[in-house]
Amino acid sequence: MSINRERKRAILKTLIKQHGLSKAYDMFGDFIGNRKPMCASCGSAIYYYSEWQETGYEIKQCTNCGWMHQTFGLSDELVTKGFYYYGKVNESIFKAFKQQIEANAVERKRMRVLFLSKKKSQQKRKERGRE
Ligand SMILES: [Zn+2]
Repeated sequence: MSINRERKRAILKTLIKQHGLSKAYDMFGDFIGNRKPMCASCGSAIYYYSEWQETGYEIKQCTNCGWMHQTFGLSDELVTKGFYYYGKVNESIFKAFKQQIEANAVERKRMRVLFLSKKKSQQKRKERGRE
């Protein structure tokens, strides 16, 4: 997502007006992802390290979603549960990678619901046992 400079300035201005100067810069930094790069899927801050200028190496990683993207010059390594790719990436590979991340997120949510409902029914059983 790229936001043009005029729009960024307008956003910052609005944030300052609504939240005050110091908070506005924090929020703005989060928003444009300058300070902390964000995960496109879950919105949490990702691990990011780049020495692209020096060695062509770069890594981005979201521990929340469980994906990793490493760049070695012209080759990229994309890793997430159920997906592995190493080589030159193009639009459709990225798309497949993103889709797998989304699918994993849905699966994780489903497992969490399952886990919580299991926990709840166990608790109920325990309570009933006490009666
Ligand atoms: Zn994520």
